[in-house]
Amino acid sequence: MNGVNFHFLNVGHGDCTIIHWPARTAGEKHMDERIAMVDLYHDTNREDYEDVIQYYKSNFQKSNGYPKPIWRLICTHPHQDHICGLKHLFDESGISIVNFWDVDNQFEPEDFEGHATHKEDWMKYQDVNSGDSGGRTLINPSRWDVRQFWDEDKITILSPSKEMIDDAHSPKQDGTKRKPHDIEIDDISFSLLVEFNSTKVLLGGDGKEKAWNDIYENCKSSITGCHVLKAAHHGHQSGFHEDAVKIMNPQYIIFSNSKEEDENNGAYDDYRRILPNAKILKTWRDGTIIVDCDFDGGIEITNSSGQSLI
Ligand SMILES: [Zn+2]
Repeated sequence: MNGVNFHFLNVGHGDCTIIHWPARTAGEKHMDERIAMVDLYHDTNREDYEDVIQYYKSNFQKSNGYPKPIWRLICTHPHQDHICGLKHLFDESGISIVNFWDVDNQFEPEDFEGHATHKEDWMKYQDVNSGDSGGRTLINPSRWDVRQFWDEDKITILSPSKEMIDDAHSPKQDGTKRKPHDIEIDDISFSLLVEFNSTKVLLGGDGKEKAWNDIYENCKSSITGCHVLKAAHHGHQSGFHEDAVKIMNPQYIIFSNSKEEDENNGAYDDYRRILPNAKILKTWRDGTIIVDCDFDGGIEITNSSGQSLI
């Protein structure tokens, strides 16, 4: 098994997914190995959760011992549970980042409570977006955008659409201007489809009902018949869209969440009701989850010790 690997890190109530495409050929064309990191979250108070940078360095190393570059760092949206650790990654990790994807947005947090490094990570996020790119390419893609490398790696941007971005920034129902912290940033988070030969893996963002109505109405054929679904909004009920889940019909569903948040808000029973045969995996219970999609459509899922989870 040396196909595309997806690592869903056990980070608590947050997200970090690392995607590793192997070097491969498609017809005459050689494609280099590539790595994407989708979000990061490091809870420095909890040793039982992954230290994202440590994990990356020990798993994605060149033969000379240096870390491999992150080809694309994708920030699905700049809430703290998706950016905490960003300053450390950019400034202190020694890991180079080639492309940075961000949702086109004017959001700002109301405060910096809730996470020790939130303020410094937010400031780094702003720096990266304000031109201090350090040679990296900044990209603000939206639905159906295609560029050469995304096409090679078969990434489809399901959400957000440009219309959803406008809508999230539009005046509130009472006609008043939206404050930066009132911008519906969850609903314009990236939801991505990654295909590898015949296998479809869908990475749901933090979008809720409005975002999923939009995806369901506009992306039906793309989302039909998935194999692996990273459940939207950490597996919370707010990200569960019954009609979309029915047509996605994944065999494996992954919740990236803490035990407490999952017990309070998780949609396990809803997914189970619609898809009684799907296997639901949870980072807080199963640890870091590694999904290996091989060239012939086979899927293996293990934890970070190599034990099978399916
Ligand atoms: Zn989140």
